[in-house]
Amino acid sequence: MSAEKPAIAPAANFIRNIVERDIEQGVYASRRWAGGPGDAAMQASGQPDPARIRTRFPPEPNGYLHIGHAKSICLNFGLAEQYGGVCHMRFDDTNPEKEEQEYVDSITESVKWLGYSWEGFGDSHLYFASNYFDFMYRAAETLIEAGHAYVDQQTADEMRANRGTLTEPGKDSPFRNRTPAENLALFREMRDGKHADGSMILRARIDMASPNINLRDPAIYRIRRATHHNTGDTWCIYPMYTFAHPIEDALEQITHSICTLEFEDQRPFYDWLLERLAESGLLAHPLPKQYEFSRLNLSYVVLSKRKLIELVENKHVTGWDDPRLPTLAGARRRGYTPEGFKLFADRIGVSKADSWIEYTILEDCMREVLNESAQRRIAVLDPIKLVIDNYPADQAEDCYAPNHPQQPELGKRVVKLSKELWIEREDFMEVPSKGYFRLFPDNMVRLRYGYVVKCTGFETDADGKVTIVHCDYLPDTKSGTPGADAIKVKGNIHWVSAAHAYTAEVRLYDRLFKTAHPGAGDSNYLDDLNPASLHVITAQLEASLKDAKPEECFQFERHGYFVADKQDSVAGQPVFNRTVTLRDAWQK
Ligand code: ATP
Ligand code: MG
Repeated sequence: MSAEKPAIAPAANFIRNIVERDIEQGVYASRRWAGGPGDAAMQASGQPDPARIRTRFPPEPNGYLHIGHAKSICLNFGLAEQYGGVCHMRFDDTNPEKEEQEYVDSITESVKWLGYSWEGFGDSHLYFASNYFDFMYRAAETLIEAGHAYVDQQTADEMRANRGTLTEPGKDSPFRNRTPAENLALFREMRDGKHADGSMILRARIDMASPNINLRDPAIYRIRRATHHNTGDTWCIYPMYTFAHPIEDALEQITHSICTLEFEDQRPFYDWLLERLAESGLLAHPLPKQYEFSRLNLSYVVLSKRKLIELVENKHVTGWDDPRLPTLAGARRRGYTPEGFKLFADRIGVSKADSWIEYTILEDCMREVLNESAQRRIAVLDPIKLVIDNYPADQAEDCYAPNHPQQPELGKRVVKLSKELWIEREDFMEVPSKGYFRLFPDNMVRLRYGYVVKCTGFETDADGKVTIVHCDYLPDTKSGTPGADAIKVKGNIHWVSAAHAYTAEVRLYDRLFKTAHPGAGDSNYLDDLNPASLHVITAQLEASLKDAKPEECFQFERHGYFVADKQDSVAGQPVFNRTVTLRDAWQK
């Protein structure tokens, strides 16, 4: 909010260092760009690439994005922004199963919500890997012709047995020495649907004795009769991910292909494949390079699409955007902000060390951002009545509450005071405990932005539960009037006029999981679900909150940050979600 505060300089990290070095050395300066993805011949016909670097965010459209993806998005789009490049939004939709338009839509929406754009240098860089199937097929034939790939007809079991182990080399397939012409004919038969699913597979011909198992003739094309959401039934063979991904990067002229650590062992194949295709002239140097960083592991949540799908489908939560879920759609509904995610990404940094990040770090980032951006409002979440017996029953007066204590330029708003108020149940005690400065019989407190009142008594119901507290006010003590401070009190409590209050549904969220590492060891993560992760309450809010717009965030004084729910709020009747408490209530 405050304009004078300098923008946070992104912390240095090893990927940033590589990018800076590459730019300095002009590693990618000779690249050309013909306006879209394409092979070497097409790109050569284009202009010198105006983008100094190209990164990409390549989700598979088989689920909603989660907080782990936010780390990758902030890194890839952030690098492009900072170094005069562009980040491509690429759907890695080469797997014909499990992919749906709903996921494509939610993914683009989440990336935009985070504040990033794939527009750059006059083009929109939204790509679908399935549009590259023709090229991938051509690349496979090219490898076959050069003797770098062969059709293998071993059974899956034989292939597994012959792959070897970490300590023993693998064994060559009996089909490994077929001629390029034989392989080409068989591969075309695979494409033409002449063979059953799983009966043969195309493999790269590299080295069955390589110490890196990923180089022991990895599979690159398989037969799979499945209808693809984009290409329909055009293909009955589909490329393997490890073959498809480097090609996608190369066609898009990606410079820095950043992925998570589990792909480290795939890097030699990534380089091998692109070098072979460059030798054949399909691609050109400089080729993209892969870099790995450690994925985000966050305590108290699960960041795996499979588990998130299970939570949604088995109705452990209300949907993909349930505010308790670590999906970006859920986080948004919870009131988490894009700025908070960027701060978080910057704070946790990028490294190759696998570690767990405490959920409280994310919450702290959200608090820091909201503390600046959220206006203050008054809300009584667990109301009991306070009656000011010496205040006229038919009177109401204006009190003035600042919208933001650190930003006086945001002004003040009127809150009405009248004879009957709502106060928090915990702000009254029949018998005060030691150090309790709030209301108890004969004690005085200040009604924040209003008067000093003295407690004169209370009423209880049949069970002895306090129902009404009585007090008298001291007329010369109104906040903001001369002499208001003449009477010093230790307690200061918030309140809402009962006659003016907006009675609203408020949802208090707690951790979705009880344990820091759900499903640790051999346990089932579902057993770690917190049964009390949602409390729905009826709260008394200051009248102005009735006009809150969906997704507007506020600090409810003394309680935390709350957002008007974007789904269930109707005009004049917003419902509020607690985003985060003011302080961390979890660390003991
Ligand atoms: P999941 O394992 O949950 O299915 P995924 O890795 O298969 O996730 P993709 O759709 O392939 O999901 O992810 C797109 C990008 O987001 C990839 O580049 C991946 O490395 C990155 N990504 C996914 N999860 C994380 C994470 N926890 N931390 C950082 N980056 C991540
Ligand atoms: Mg993946």
